[in-house]
Amino acid sequence: MDEDLTEAAHRPEEHVSGGVPSWLAAALNYCSRCGAALRFGSIDGDHRERLACSACGFVAYVNPRLVVTTLPITEGGEVVLLRRGIEPGYGFWAQPGGFLEIDETVREGAIRETLEETGLLVEPGEIVGLYSRTQAAVVVVAFEARIVGGALRANPEALEFGTFAPEAIPWPEIAFRTSTWALRDWVRRVRPDLHPELLREQPAV
Ligand SMILES: [Zn+2]
Repeated sequence: MDEDLTEAAHRPEEHVSGGVPSWLAAALNYCSRCGAALRFGSIDGDHRERLACSACGFVAYVNPRLVVTTLPITEGGEVVLLRRGIEPGYGFWAQPGGFLEIDETVREGAIRETLEETGLLVEPGEIVGLYSRTQAAVVVVAFEARIVGGALRANPEALEFGTFAPEAIPWPEIAFRTSTWALRDWVRRVRPDLHPELLREQPAV
């Protein structure tokens, strides 16, 4: 998963004023149009303070990015997860996914990321959930996805693959809170009798 910044999640929930996470604000020192220093404060016609250039007036709007992910489901009703081969979350389980590119639709991005990280060709179906992580400055969408082709293929981002029945999700070894939430919501759909909402939230990293 191409989620390195996504799960800056493990850092304390720290924001500078204006709601910009400090790790993100650290990369916003200068105007991308003229190179002068950005200053945080009120600007004309806006109800909230912004980072703006004191020289040319350019406003550096900061918005969350979308992470597109899938829960690939086998014919037997098991979910395919990958054991992450990169940080953050090295060695822990997550679903395939990554940042949406500027020239693709949400479904296209989900299909592409899943293919890159697993070798599986999927057909995204219903959205299992949409999850905000303000500190990581991301919104994560998780599709339930039917596997329609391809084959699991090793790659630098995945140490190994596993398929898990709803009752066999390795909860303590799930890499991210958003992955835990997505899996919980999927299990709630397919096996409500398992009461995944009673899980103690315990992200591995
Ligand atoms: Zn400027």
